[in-house]
Amino acid sequence: IVQAYSVPYRGEGVEDRGAVVVLRDVTEEEHADRARRDFVANVSHEIRTPLTTIKSYIEALEDGAIESPDYSRRFLSVIHGETERMARLVSDLLQLSRLDSNRESLRTAPHVLRDLVQKACFRFTMHLQRQEVSLSFEVPSNLIVNVDADKLDQVFDNLISNAVKYTLTGGRIRVKAHRPSGKFILVQVIDTGMGIPKHDLPLIFERFYRVDKARSRAMGGTGLGLSIAKQIIEMHGGYIRIDSEEGHGTTVSFTLPASTGGV
Ligand code: ADP
Repeated sequence: IVQAYSVPYRGEGVEDRGAVVVLRDVTEEEHADRARRDFVANVSHEIRTPLTTIKSYIEALEDGAIESPDYSRRFLSVIHGETERMARLVSDLLQLSRLDSNRESLRTAPHVLRDLVQKACFRFTMHLQRQEVSLSFEVPSNLIVNVDADKLDQVFDNLISNAVKYTLTGGRIRVKAHRPSGKFILVQVIDTGMGIPKHDLPLIFERFYRVDKARSRAMGGTGLGLSIAKQIIEMHGGYIRIDSEEGHGTTVSFTLPASTGGV
């Protein structure tokens, strides 16, 4: 996209007449502007959807459903779920805005990777027993990473919760890690879930991008988990990628800086 200005120029002689034309490439500014507008529209939509649901369930209660203990319980549970999702959305948005403005610098220190993985996995164990999905990790105890532990915990939380959300009963989730070179450690979160269609893969790290909006919302998703994970990994100087086969499963791989010393 090019912006052009022209100013007539009139010099002394006849040959000195003409115009000064200034061409400016504004492609990047236009794209940034559009991304900002899209983001605001997305946020508004994401907030309005649960609000509409909450409002209609409250109205139904006011209109008499409150007299039935069964309906009251069901409707209140929907309202509760939607309120929690909105709270998660706001905290994800705050996290993104802090990451965007670089206000949050990394507090890196050497950590035993296995301990961090174990802590993250344990949070899901109870939940998974009910769902009949197995979660295991294979992380050698001698891998030391130089990371901001709180931020990495958020990455594990987002990736494991995705694996849980999109893996059905009987499925399997594994977290693996090894050190392919001296400088970095490769971590993988592998699931045997529903997978992601090929044509969605290039867009999957974009904010609010979801393969199935209804399913993501029903599972309490905000559509921001992968973009937050990507931003945190890149802040650590690593890369993240996702490989997936629809109907078979998904593998998210990312690198972390290896620590040269001990813990
Ligand atoms: P959400 O909150 O919707 O899960 P994410 O940014 O974490 O948002 O993920 C974006 C989308 O990528 C999800 O809505 C889902 O469609 C897809 N996705 C992410 N992880 C997986 C996975 N492990 N298996 C299948 N689909 C996934």
